[in-house]
Amino acid sequence: MNTKPAASETGDPLLLTPGPLTTSASVKQAMVHDWGSRDQGFIGINKMVLEKIVELAGGQGTHVTVPVQGSGTFAVEAMITSFVPKSGKLLVVINGAYGQRARKIAEIAGRAVATYETPEDTPPDLAKLEAMLVADPAITHVFAVHCETTSGILNPIAELAALVKKQGRRLLVDSMSAFGAIEIDARTVHYDALAASSNKCLEGVPGLGFVVCRNTALAECKGNATTLVLDLFDQAEGFAKTGQYRFTPPIHVIVALGKAIEEHAAEGGVAGRGKRYRENAKVLIDGMRAMGFQTLLPNDLQAPIIITFHMPTDPKFVFQRFYDGLKDRGYVIYPGKLTVADSFRMGCIGRLYPDHMRGALAAVREVLDEMRVTNGGPALAAE
Ligand SMILES: *Cc1c(COP(=O)(O)O)cnc(C)c1O
Repeated sequence: MNTKPAASETGDPLLLTPGPLTTSASVKQAMVHDWGSRDQGFIGINKMVLEKIVELAGGQGTHVTVPVQGSGTFAVEAMITSFVPKSGKLLVVINGAYGQRARKIAEIAGRAVATYETPEDTPPDLAKLEAMLVADPAITHVFAVHCETTSGILNPIAELAALVKKQGRRLLVDSMSAFGAIEIDARTVHYDALAASSNKCLEGVPGLGFVVCRNTALAECKGNATTLVLDLFDQAEGFAKTGQYRFTPPIHVIVALGKAIEEHAAEGGVAGRGKRYRENAKVLIDGMRAMGFQTLLPNDLQAPIIITFHMPTDPKFVFQRFYDGLKDRGYVIYPGKLTVADSFRMGCIGRLYPDHMRGALAAVREVLDEMRVTNGGPALAAE
């Protein structure tokens, strides 16, 4: 190894992962204080954070952010179980692990479930989806994932939302890995609720999920929830009455998220953050393709969030050595989670810039050379 390992502003390896991800030093620094959960200082910061999230969603005056202590899945579970009534039926649109997880959440909660599943590299066929809605009037709600992080595919959420609305059903969106970097504007995309979290494109630390809720839809949710802690209606009422969480909030996480949202605004909001991620993705994809690697997805389906690469088929390529070699050089990548292809993933979100991507590419080249692998693709596999 001839170069110094790459590192974040605080000396840690760079996380080329879908979150938790590399955060700025100032976001981490925001956490070195104590606040009481009933303290006006903290209550004010929390209020600002929730309001800024509504603004980012384009929901001022029409929507409210209801936070949920925990990781992103806590917010997804809160959304599904608070919005789909016990008598409702949820159609889950699936093309990856996060769609599967939503189906499981609804089943455990005892809600009636239908699924529309396509392979992980294939977006839903909206005509088929519409036909399913027409054929089954019992379906009250549709759940869809914005960017399916399993593959990195960008699902056609605006078009899907329009057809769900046209069919008179309600939409729940998992925009976990897209919110803050890929536009989804509540003024044009009609949904009842959208879930995301602190530790993806907003570049905060993990520990807070949140659901952007349409006010009039949330007002209908009293008594739907099947758990106490994940009841969004009750949680929202708590804020309306006292400005406070019902149970201990992850205070440091929320204060760090406030700082992260400030930095998001300074970068130019959703447009600015998205631009940097698109640059990161382009540098990474072009560079990896130049070394023979093949992406799972064609460019037109690829979100600039996380890139899935086919595993090279050269028998000298050993993934664990590849992973460890990159880690030694300061870059942490992500194994694949796909059923359609043997693969690995590299993220382009977090406090990472195109130069970090160039550094990662140089590290990939070095590790391939060490393994004496000349081509990263499946094509020139056999020797
Ligand atoms: C990250 C993510 C989640 C939430 O995962 P957690 O591990 O609970 O934070 C949900 N959906 C999608 C699409 C995600 O990328």
